[in-house]
Amino acid sequence: MSRLHYDTATAEQLAAINKTLAKGDTVDVIKWAYETFGDDLIYSCSFGAEAMVLIDMISDVKKDARVTFLDTHLHFAQTYELIEKVRARYPALQLTIKEPQLSLAQQAAEHGDELWIAKPDLCCHLRKVQPMESVLKGTVAWMSGLRREQSATRADVQFVNRDEKFQSLKICPLIHWKAEEVWQYIRVFELPYNALHDQSYPSIGCAPCTRPVRAGEDERAGRWSHLGKTECGLHLAK
Ligand code: SF4
Repeated sequence: MSRLHYDTATAEQLAAINKTLAKGDTVDVIKWAYETFGDDLIYSCSFGAEAMVLIDMISDVKKDARVTFLDTHLHFAQTYELIEKVRARYPALQLTIKEPQLSLAQQAAEHGDELWIAKPDLCCHLRKVQPMESVLKGTVAWMSGLRREQSATRADVQFVNRDEKFQSLKICPLIHWKAEEVWQYIRVFELPYNALHDQSYPSIGCAPCTRPVRAGEDERAGRWSHLGKTECGLHLAK
């Protein structure tokens, strides 16, 4: 078992670790995470701009890191194209595509057509949260590319967090990064990225629930904008 575990980690212990990690840079956080958890750490990757930065940094630290993509079967074609580019650039990564239990046809038969319109929380639960529960079963920690400036609900995220929802530890190395810094890194290192980012999609999820943003809107305004929802549930406490 890893030295640090959700069941036993105290608030004081995590606060002390976060204080120490705040003195280093992003790669130090990533190195600490893999030294602490090794293969008990999974990066849950959505292949957004932050993911390109994290994958690039992670592969300098642990080339064969475990990376999982939750494939809802509803992503844009450009997202699937990007995944193939990432596979080609980082061939040693252990990339797993995790699919929901229900196909879209089975989901429609059981819950009705276009569940993302009728009951988007249930749709996210079936196609994202349940598969994530299965991915994290038996692992100690997962990594995410959350940044504090993305939304008010992310403003207090730390480098190392207790994740009550998945009863795991959640590592977020990019909390302090600004969007401009993410893009500067992508350009400097000529990383692949989702072609939709050049078409006013700063944040990209499933196709039925993502639209381009208009001038002046914040970067997550295009996610579930017609549904009164701001998160898929992976990053909510319950
Ligand atoms: Fe369903 Fe939309 Fe959630 Fe994707 S983002 S799982 S389509 S509700």
